[in-house]
Amino acid sequence: MGRGAKAITSILLIEFLLLYNTVSQQGLEESAAARTLKQEPHHTNEVHCSRERSKAAWKIIEDYLMPFLEEEGFQISTKCRLHPDNDLFRDQEQHKICLDVNEWRCGYCKKSFRAENFLDQHFDNRHYNLLSVNQSKCLADLCGALHCDFVMNSKSLKAKCNPAAVARNRHLCESLADSCFPITQGPSASRLHELFLHQFCDAHTCSRKNKPFPKGGKKQTSILYMATSILILMLLPIFYLLYYLYQREMNRGTQVLRRVSQVGRKTKPS
Ligand SMILES: [Zn+2]
Repeated sequence: MGRGAKAITSILLIEFLLLYNTVSQQGLEESAAARTLKQEPHHTNEVHCSRERSKAAWKIIEDYLMPFLEEEGFQISTKCRLHPDNDLFRDQEQHKICLDVNEWRCGYCKKSFRAENFLDQHFDNRHYNLLSVNQSKCLADLCGALHCDFVMNSKSLKAKCNPAAVARNRHLCESLADSCFPITQGPSASRLHELFLHQFCDAHTCSRKNKPFPKGGKKQTSILYMATSILILMLLPIFYLLYYLYQREMNRGTQVLRRVSQVGRKTKPS
């Protein structure tokens, strides 16, 4: 009996060891497979640059920097990462033809689309070869410095401030100011250097006292201008109507007074 029990336990032990071995081997193979899967994207020629974020960065440059460049008559060099040539998607964006809100046309092959994002997909699928894949040309990489998140969705701003990320963005922002507006290049370059720091870099702080783009931009001023002109146009007729009614009431009032005084004079002798 004792010998039989020993044999059974030893058989069970051997089976357990064999099973454990195969399971662990499988695990090793699986993790190896996962590793190769993870490594795979590095071998493909995919564009690792967000079109959406590049678009947001371009919009910020266009709205909050370009008006000041035009004012100074300043031309940024191609060495500056904010230069249009350094935006991977600029050429495609310039080949978007918007005929109507619901009609977009591809400038390369003239195909029509119902929405802008379908045209974006078309660019990704059909005109991929036109993109010169170059990491230094990704405008989305400057999003941290240019406050893309502030413009795209203000919800994430309520998240806790990360001092390391803030310092990194501030450094990138200041290096952009130095490379795009070298203070040695003259008075307008140094004025724009100062403006860039004020407009974009000062807000990279955890105190949140400084908001980005304090000097405003093209869009904001145009909206303000439109709103004030509409308000004035709406208020003017109301003002004239009130003035007319007031004048009429005044005239009527004096007429009544005149009549009252005339009646008074007539009744006096009796
Ligand atoms: Zn096309």
